[in-house]
Amino acid sequence: MDQKERFDATQQRRAKQFALCSYALGRDPSARGAEALFDQALTNGLALIVAHMWPGKESGRRGRMLSARDLLVVIKAEGISAESGVTRVLHDPAKPEFVKSPWFEPGDEERLVANFTEVRTSVLERALDITQEIRHAREVSDNPTEALAEEHLEALDVLSDHPEISHAISVEGLAAYETKVSSDDDAEQARAARYLEALGEDEAQRRADVDELRDRFAPAPGDVDITTLEDCPVCGYETFVAPSRDGYLDEVGIGHCFVCSYERTDIVAEDLANTLYIRRAIERSD
Ligand SMILES: [Zn+2]
Repeated sequence: MDQKERFDATQQRRAKQFALCSYALGRDPSARGAEALFDQALTNGLALIVAHMWPGKESGRRGRMLSARDLLVVIKAEGISAESGVTRVLHDPAKPEFVKSPWFEPGDEERLVANFTEVRTSVLERALDITQEIRHAREVSDNPTEALAEEHLEALDVLSDHPEISHAISVEGLAAYETKVSSDDDAEQARAARYLEALGEDEAQRRADVDELRDRFAPAPGDVDITTLEDCPVCGYETFVAPSRDGYLDEVGIGHCFVCSYERTDIVAEDLANTLYIRRAIERSD
């Protein structure tokens, strides 16, 4: 995958996370776990918008995605400030804020449409305060003081005016993307399972020297990137060697199994992490 493809895939993942979380949130904004979904949707929507307009500014040290609050700081600094508490981010920077509607037909009165997404920074910052308070309060009591209100949900919703988001969250696009990722992984698991069978049980057991792998990948003092060993979903041995993990939860390994050769790519790992995250948010809200 070249750099451009990787960037596009990341943007698509962000749009997808935005869409899935907004969808779950829309079903019941007062459910437990709603604030986690809100934060997740907002962070991904803002990261997508910043990355599209100012590539590179969406991440901080070591390539980590910035928090929603820091992304709002970038948007306020780089965008066009409109009325108070609102910043406009252009879709096409070569064009003015308002452009002729592409749906203009001869004979129609000329119409202007916005070439920007409105980021209601003040409302969103307040929403982040609230979600933080709620998440914090739930650790000590069950009575958060303030809940997410309509204006916060609306401020989140208008982010989907961004063409990258509206394009990617079109139901077909999302479904096709999800099906593609999971079918790629299914095909890879099936391939590794055939390989495992050809290998035979004796050889698989001989390779499954977990102690040797632990020694081999034990972190040296001062190592920043830690290689982890995980249970392999195909052969079941704890021989899935993951030099890195998904960028969001830092939990789902990216790497290879040293017994059956199963490979998990970064795209599959991000997708699994996203599903895991949403499932947890929903379980917490039950
Ligand atoms: Zn395996």
